[in-house]
Amino acid sequence: MISLSKRLSFTLIGILLTFTPINFAKQLSNLKVDSLIGSRVNLPSFWIGKGQINHDVHILVMAGHADSQGMNGAGTSGYVVDLKGAAPMDSSMRDELYWNLLVCKELVLLGRRYGLNISFYDPEIRTLVDANDPRTNWSNGYRHALNGGYPLEIHFDAYGPDGYGSGLIPAVTDDLNSIDESLASDFGRYPLLFRGGLGAPRRQIRILEIGKLEGELEDRLRDASTRDKTIRTIAIRITNSILKGLNKDTITVKL
Ligand SMILES: [Zn+2]
Repeated sequence: MISLSKRLSFTLIGILLTFTPINFAKQLSNLKVDSLIGSRVNLPSFWIGKGQINHDVHILVMAGHADSQGMNGAGTSGYVVDLKGAAPMDSSMRDELYWNLLVCKELVLLGRRYGLNISFYDPEIRTLVDANDPRTNWSNGYRHALNGGYPLEIHFDAYGPDGYGSGLIPAVTDDLNSIDESLASDFGRYPLLFRGGLGAPRRQIRILEIGKLEGELEDRLRDASTRDKTIRTIAIRITNSILKGLNKDTITVKL
């Protein structure tokens, strides 16, 4: 039988281990709610992006759901369209794609200006039923990865309980790199095999969920007086995160 004082000291050690500063910091960063992009994904995730990557790596940015409108996987319409009856931003596409496209374009503009080797691929045909059509995001992202590039697809997450929050869904590989690490530490870290491994990550395409399309984030995007600044702020944050991942100086851009 363990004496009472021993039992007390075991309990004390247990409490100390649970509440070490590292655990505290980890729990806080998981629960962090950002004033612009909302809550971060809070799922158990243990990968670390340690791989070195060429500092001039070609980053290919794509807008999530750019080739899957009017079919399964068209993306989220957002909270105010689905639940409040607001009109979509553009009747030919879901709101998520509308915002994905704007973020992609701003990100490439900024990235190029500040020293990234970055370009944008848009299939332009909004419905490609065959995932293996050479014009899809998946086909182009996969080809890009095979050629040693870094494919990154921009998304906004579903509102309400269907969404998980901001974060990087990594590619399904054991060779995640310092850009992956930087994006995960700045936006949130999804598990390696999120939902059993989605189509894009299985093709080495990274998915960046900016945030759930609801609340403050959606309001600021929809409000014409804050829209440009919001898109720009998001693009600056992604640019800086990639620059950090490549060990380059970050930027301060006047809004
Ligand atoms: Zn999406």
